[in-house]
Order: sequence, then structure tokens, then C-alpha cells
Amino acid sequence: MISYDVAEFGKPLQRAERPTPAPQGSEVLVRTLAAGVCHSDLHLWEGGYDLGSAGRLRVADRGVSLPFTMGHEIAGEVAALGPGVDPSASGVAIGGKYLVFPWIGCGECAICQSGEEHLCLRPRFLGIFRPGGYGDHLLVPHPRYLIPLGRLTPAEAAPYACSGVTTFGALRRLGDMIRRQPIVIIGAGGLGLMCLTLLTAMGGKGAVVVDIDEAKRRAALEAGALAAVDGSAADAAPQVAAAVGGPVLGVIDYVGASGTARLGFDLLAKGGKLVIVGLFGGELTVPLPPIPMRAVTIQGSYVGSLQELRDLMALVNRAKIARIPITTRPQEEANAALHDLRDGRAIGRYVLVP
Ligand SMILES: [Zn+2]
Ligand SMILES: [Zn+2]
Repeated sequence: MISYDVAEFGKPLQRAERPTPAPQGSEVLVRTLAAGVCHSDLHLWEGGYDLGSAGRLRVADRGVSLPFTMGHEIAGEVAALGPGVDPSASGVAIGGKYLVFPWIGCGECAICQSGEEHLCLRPRFLGIFRPGGYGDHLLVPHPRYLIPLGRLTPAEAAPYACSGVTTFGALRRLGDMIRRQPIVIIGAGGLGLMCLTLLTAMGGKGAVVVDIDEAKRRAALEAGALAAVDGSAADAAPQVAAAVGGPVLGVIDYVGASGTARLGFDLLAKGGKLVIVGLFGGELTVPLPPIPMRAVTIQGSYVGSLQELRDLMALVNRAKIARIPITTRPQEEANAALHDLRDGRAIGRYVLVP
């Protein structure tokens, strides 16, 4: 098999050739058909996250060892089943096409048992701790992590495994607020645009989108945003509040920078909630009394659970959802795709195909 690996942080991915693994026990060998290029791949590739005054989070300290194969947004075809997989009971078939749930935990701890494997302290995430989709084959530990594609093509489905379930998870954290008031979405990259389409499908009242980039604001309006505000404007907050037309109860920050999180916090009305999803980095300094006095919530949201991804796939197969723009690129262009994403040239999502 062939893969494009991070051999050294921040350096070009290296093409590697090794024997295709044979699935053991409950494992399933999947042939990659599509692999999304995610913003968090940039951090993995560069080796860390900026933690503001707390320094830098190094992925090497989190148990990521070099070389490794990135790619956690994977759709593929089952190529072989391990000897412990009963083909009739597992629900997966050789040649069948599936979306892969990559946020796999240890499977044994209380968190995993409660169905929140994505929050496990001993993660086995594909494309981070285990080889992922920047290769033509990969092993999935168990068939239950495979979700049928339904009406979606592999390239359409792949981004739902991370950006989709991340967006869906963040919207779920806002509960029924989304049906009471327009929400505010900060950041109109791939996640923000996907959020707009899911919000409509979930019966939401729409969203006002904030982005400093004019082309991205235009893309947000085309995707159905009620209004698009330049986050760098001095009067960004009053502009957003006016466009929402009432108290701001829900804000999702898909950037996660100091300035965007502060704007999100400042917008919240009484009882409002700021969900921080983006991992741009930095830190948030806010006055404390308004947190209790306005009874606001600041919540982090990290990807989503296996059940949330199943629910999301059911939703996108059921509802008429406008597809987010996708650009497929050959897998050998992985380096160029990472550079283009880092330089802000990508609108929508890059998906690598072998
Ligand atoms: Zn991702
Ligand atoms: Zn666990």
C-alpha cells in the first residue's frame, strides 16, 4: 500500500510504500475512496497548537509518534474482514462503501461505555494515533465504526466524519435555542458553511455569519446566511446584534482565536451560550461578574460521538441538504492541498482521492 506520511513536523509529506496490512480479530481492512483535508491536519502536520500565555501544545507530547499517516475524514470500501468478524451479524459486506467513524477510544473505560468514545482519555483516533486516510488502505478496529453512505458519494460523505459531526455536535450543544432565535456563526470556512446547511435541515431560524474575509462572507450569503458581518469592523458587535434582531442566545465560534471568542462572549444575552469549536489558538480574557449575572455558558465542543455521526448521516440522507463545495484532488497532491488550506485559498473542502 501507499501512504503520504508526516515524517517530520512541518516538512513535506513523504510517500511511503509498505505491505497492505491483513485484518486481525474484529478488524476491517478498508480501501480509501476519499479523505478530507481538515484544518486540524495543519496543526498535526505543524506539530502543535498555540495556547497563548500557556505556551504551545505539542502533539508529540500527546502520543503522536513519527512517521504517521494523517486523514480522519475517510470514506472507503471494505476490502477484507478479520477472522473475528461475522459477515452476516456485522452488517458490513466486502465491497460495501461506508463512512468511517474515526474518533475511536479504548472501548473499555466508563467514557467509552457511555458512548462518548470521542472523549476517551486513551484515544485510538484514526489519522492521528492510528494510520488514516492519506493512504490507499487502512485498518478499522471494528465494523461498528462503519456507517453506510446512503445516497452520498464517498467524496461528499468524507467531510461529515469530522467537520460535519463537529458542526452537528456544536449545534446540538445549543439545544432548541436554534429554533427560537437566529444564531451567530463566527468563521465562514468549511465548518461555518456546513453549519448553515445543517441548521436549515434541523429546523433552525437561520444565522448571522461573521468573517473578516470578503469572499467568505459572500460564500456565506450564497449558502443562506441572514447577514454577513465583517468581524474586523469597529462596530462588528452592534452590527451583528442588529442583524439578529433580538437577544443573541447562541454563538458558535469556528475560529477559536482571542478576538473571535471575545466577540462571541460580548454578544451573549442573558442565558446565552458560546460554543467554542475552532482551534486557531490564543487565549480569552473576560470580566467575571457578567458570567453569573448574565448566566451565560461557555462550552467547548470537540468532534462528536458515534451516535451523533449516525444521526447526522441519517439527517443528510433524509433532508434536502445543499452540499458544501468540495474540490477533489489526487492523493499525491496532499502537500499542495495542505499548503493551499494553510494559506487560506480553500473555499469549502479539499478531498483527496487515491
Ligand atoms: Zn478534522
Ligand atoms: Zn475509553
